[in-house]
Amino acid sequence: MEKAYKFLTSGYDADIDQVLNNALFTVDYSEMVIVKDIDFYSLCEHHLLPFFGKCHVAYIPSTKVIGLSKIPRLVDVFARRLQVQERLTNQIADVIRDKIAPLGVAVVMEATHLCMSMRGVEKQNSFAVTSAMHGAFRTSSRTRMEFLELIKLRNAVPGLKERSAAGYACVGDD
Ligand SMILES: [Zn+2]
Repeated sequence: MEKAYKFLTSGYDADIDQVLNNALFTVDYSEMVIVKDIDFYSLCEHHLLPFFGKCHVAYIPSTKVIGLSKIPRLVDVFARRLQVQERLTNQIADVIRDKIAPLGVAVVMEATHLCMSMRGVEKQNSFAVTSAMHGAFRTSSRTRMEFLELIKLRNAVPGLKERSAAGYACVGDD
């Protein structure tokens, strides 16, 4: 059990620059980059029970891009901590914004929370969708909708509102 929890919280010790390992490239490309359906597993910080699902990441480069294989690694760094889904979503968006200063970055996470589905409270809300939008994804509804349409191709995003998702995530009140 100790080994398992050490692994599941190993994101605290991760060095972001080491994870990225120089996989930041200067390019002349300004179209939207999307990595969708990234599986993630995390633990809610209130009950130490898993929440897990899919993460979708998009950004519009200004001068730099991140190697595509590094995006799921970044998601793991923040998922392998004790989390709330809203913070996890924001941290992924923030680190991409801080590392490559894109014209915009968007992260949407859809997750099932075992602390809700197993304990028989608010079962209807055990599926939560959160989003973090910066730059063009916040200021341009056309850009935001393009991203949302693209990630809806395979996964519906129920309940996602225009600006930010409904905050159904575990609130740890009991
Ligand atoms: Zn919880």
